[in-house]
Amino acid sequence: MIQLPHLHQQLETSGARLVAVSKTKSVEEILELYHQGQRIFGENKVQELCDKFQALPKDIEWHLIGHLQTNKVKYIAPFVHLIHSVDSLKLLFEIDKQAEKCERVIPVLLQIHIAAEDTKFGLDRTELVEVLEYYCSPSSPLQHVQICGLMGMATNTEDEQQIHREFETLRELFQFVKSSYLIHRNDFKELSMGMSGDYQIALQHGSTLVRIGSLLFGSRS
Ligand SMILES: *Cc1c(COP(=O)(O)O)cnc(C)c1O
Repeated sequence: MIQLPHLHQQLETSGARLVAVSKTKSVEEILELYHQGQRIFGENKVQELCDKFQALPKDIEWHLIGHLQTNKVKYIAPFVHLIHSVDSLKLLFEIDKQAEKCERVIPVLLQIHIAAEDTKFGLDRTELVEVLEYYCSPSSPLQHVQICGLMGMATNTEDEQQIHREFETLRELFQFVKSSYLIHRNDFKELSMGMSGDYQIALQHGSTLVRIGSLLFGSRS
């Protein structure tokens, strides 16, 4: 486990921000970090996110970091601050539709499949290009979503070189998207990568948002 101020100190030099991953943790445990100044919290389930949004102070920025089903977008659309896990064009269209209903623009990240395991969700390069073609077309139907960057999860492995390679792949993809599609968009700036076990590696590859749960809150039962 790590103390919040110590973690913030580690992140400060790199300029990355902390998403405190509070899934399965209680309102009291979240408040403990809130009172130490933490404002960004991440959840991976829609129901839990909605319950905690209701129960906790309204200046918390809630991030959805887990897989999102299209039929659940409507529940989080009014308040979600950033969705990290957009892994299909269909989902992006649904987020756009629900955002329009709420008269807002929802910031999102495109989740990219970088790990060797095929259990982790995410777009491949071809699917990524397809999404960007829609988003960037002059007559884009996607007026209520803002693509702010990319997110990825590395393989759960002891092989640090592999983790380095996967995060570097994501960083290169980020640069490719920026220079080929979104060159004039200053809002395309986030690289969400790094969890408790690999955030220090992710920081070396330019992570701007680390998603850390167990290292802060203790292991989940
Ligand atoms: C749970 C989770 C995390 C945090 O994992 P820890 O290993 O507990 O830090 C990060 N990202 C996603 C998408 C998660 O589901």
